[in-house]
Amino acid sequence: MESEIKRTEVSSLGEFGLIDHLTKGHAMVQPSTFVGIGDDAAVIDHRDQLTVVSTDMLVEGIHFDLMYTPLKHLGYKSVAVNLSDIYAMNAMPTQITLSLAFSNRFSVEALEEFYEGVYAACKNFNVDLIGGDTSSSNKGFIISVTAFGRATSKNICYRNGAKPGDLVCVSGNLGSAYLGLQILEREKQIFLSDQTIQPDLENQAYVVGRQLKPEPRFDIIELFEKSGLIPTSMIDISDGLVSEIFHICKQSGVGAYIEESGIPIHPDAELLAIKFNLDPVTCALYGGEDYELLFTVDPNDLEKVKYIPDIYIAGEITEADHGIKLHTKGGNIYDLKEKGFNHFTA
Ligand code: ADP
Ligand code: MG
Repeated sequence: MESEIKRTEVSSLGEFGLIDHLTKGHAMVQPSTFVGIGDDAAVIDHRDQLTVVSTDMLVEGIHFDLMYTPLKHLGYKSVAVNLSDIYAMNAMPTQITLSLAFSNRFSVEALEEFYEGVYAACKNFNVDLIGGDTSSSNKGFIISVTAFGRATSKNICYRNGAKPGDLVCVSGNLGSAYLGLQILEREKQIFLSDQTIQPDLENQAYVVGRQLKPEPRFDIIELFEKSGLIPTSMIDISDGLVSEIFHICKQSGVGAYIEESGIPIHPDAELLAIKFNLDPVTCALYGGEDYELLFTVDPNDLEKVKYIPDIYIAGEITEADHGIKLHTKGGNIYDLKEKGFNHFTA
């Protein structure tokens, strides 16, 4: 017997039936969720804590490609990247809302798969889905997630607190997600030219996983709390290390240098970069979507940094007039350019 993929049209449930179908039966876990899905608005009660809010939009063809992004991964990533912004405030996320627009190309089953990823992220990061909006679109899939979190005025971290002498720290290896994307794009082109060739991703599970299933670093935020460390500034690395250090420097009114030897790169990413004829350090400096944390700490807090495993000290904050520099392993000093590839060769 031939197996058939079940396809239920969204129109058979209607808008309200669909929302009900996708959202029913998920218990709220956060004490601050006062009212969830179902009324005109949700209600959050953070008592004496600050409420932190962040929103992100993901557009098919701009931010993701459904040819190589499984819907479940997309659901997970849509939530994860938003929560990363909340963690980057040294805050704990508590709730999300999720708004979607999709064409009739999407079946109920496809949306179920997407929500599976959304709920997996909710469970993993302990947040409640408390509302959203559902609309049709002529073409393409559009996702908007808003995340809410709580922070204390003592612990909250902004981009503008870095000062000369602070250590520049990174929570994990960089460049892998970018190289994962290069692999997926290459396999897509091969598949488009010959549809009998199956993608070969086996050996690149690490970098492809870093692209498709990013894991925001809530563990680091928990360790800050445990060790009593409050970074002087913090940002999550969504657009690449250089772009983010520029944000911190501009908003803090400081300069910085990054030590090439202090930039963490995974061995798989390093090998792959060389295979693609790319400089691994350039990939780590400019490649996006690793969702690690970039933060600065007062040098007096060095002992507390050492308490947190796998933190890399990648440089130091300087006076503004020093500019933003790269110190290479070979002892050269280059100006880092905010954008562009191969900027510091030549
Ligand atoms: P309204 O017409 O007032 O905007 P809706 O019918 O759009 O209300 O939404 C009804 C309830 O379902 C609200 O609580 C809303 O937040 C929630 N909701 C709507 N769409 C979604 C979605 N895609 N995911 C989660 N919750 C949703
Ligand atoms: Mg609505």
